[in-house]
Amino acid sequence: MTTNGLEITILKADVLKSGLRALYYSGAHHILAPFSQGIGLIFMLHQVSRERPSPFAANRGLMVTPEFLDSVLHEVKRARIDIVSLDEAYERIRARGSANRFACFTLDDGYRDNLQQAYPVFTRHRAPFAIYVPSDFPEGRGDLWWFAIEKAILSSDEIALEAPGGVECIPTKSDAEKQNAFNRIYRHLRNMDEAGARRIAARICDTAKVDTTGLCRELIMSWDEIRDLNTDPLVTIGAHTQAHFALARLPEKRAREEMRRGADLLEKQLGVRPLHLSYPYGDPGSAGPREFRIAEELGFKTAVTTRKGVIFPEHAEHLTALPRVSLNGEYQSTAFTRLFMSGAPFALWNGFRKVDAA
Ligand SMILES: [Zn+2]
Repeated sequence: MTTNGLEITILKADVLKSGLRALYYSGAHHILAPFSQGIGLIFMLHQVSRERPSPFAANRGLMVTPEFLDSVLHEVKRARIDIVSLDEAYERIRARGSANRFACFTLDDGYRDNLQQAYPVFTRHRAPFAIYVPSDFPEGRGDLWWFAIEKAILSSDEIALEAPGGVECIPTKSDAEKQNAFNRIYRHLRNMDEAGARRIAARICDTAKVDTTGLCRELIMSWDEIRDLNTDPLVTIGAHTQAHFALARLPEKRAREEMRRGADLLEKQLGVRPLHLSYPYGDPGSAGPREFRIAEELGFKTAVTTRKGVIFPEHAEHLTALPRVSLNGEYQSTAFTRLFMSGAPFALWNGFRKVDAA
């Protein structure tokens, strides 16, 4: 019997989901909550859309529906957690907590559906939220290579991947093959120098005759749209660097420049300097102690990673290395939301270590 990539991906997600369900139905998260829930949490989202993903939609984890977002907001309120802006979260972390726990809602990249589909939900709840925008994206210059590759795979029967051992021909006929190919290509590109990876991605798209230039304009808000949003006191626009590179893989000078220029360009367009930052990709390989230090030196009040976890009083000493709780397209259920709010899965994954800033 052969197991293909799609089956492995689904299997892994299923094992994780059954573990989470077992935790939820055991009720153990209630027992763990006093130790695991911390003083607050920062939710991470990307796209919010009612659009139904195709059978092969490699990036579907990045998308939740507006209905799910609405249900999360209800759950947070039901749990008597205060929904606050990043400025308010900063104050509460520095004070090492307050009577109630807090929750922030943050969205990365500046997708247009944030304005069209998420904004009305937040407005209905009078809930503050933040959008982190890489300054190249509203310029129409953003390289959304992870979507470009998905598009190329969708329209091809085979992809030639330039790998160190020579060109690798990856079949992409069935949905399972497409998923397998995406996993292989994505992993390969994330593990190499990013400028080179983007060149390879561009050549894959060229061969597949996929027009990637329109992708950014189609998916990302324009400066006018961002400016409009920014007039609403519920909205915080945060920085997400200039060109969305994995900073830890860049020389220090270049990483600093990416962070500084992203903020400069947002300030130029919006008239206010962004005080909050999200590191592109945000995993330990993309943002580490060097980036946490630079963010502080550049004057950001907070900076968020994609490391998993909730906020503890100890984060007062690590305001530029904050973890987040991902609202992932694969986990759109109330049970998962309640579980994540308890912090219990993260406590178990992180071995009850509260701060991960290494
Ligand atoms: Zn991003």
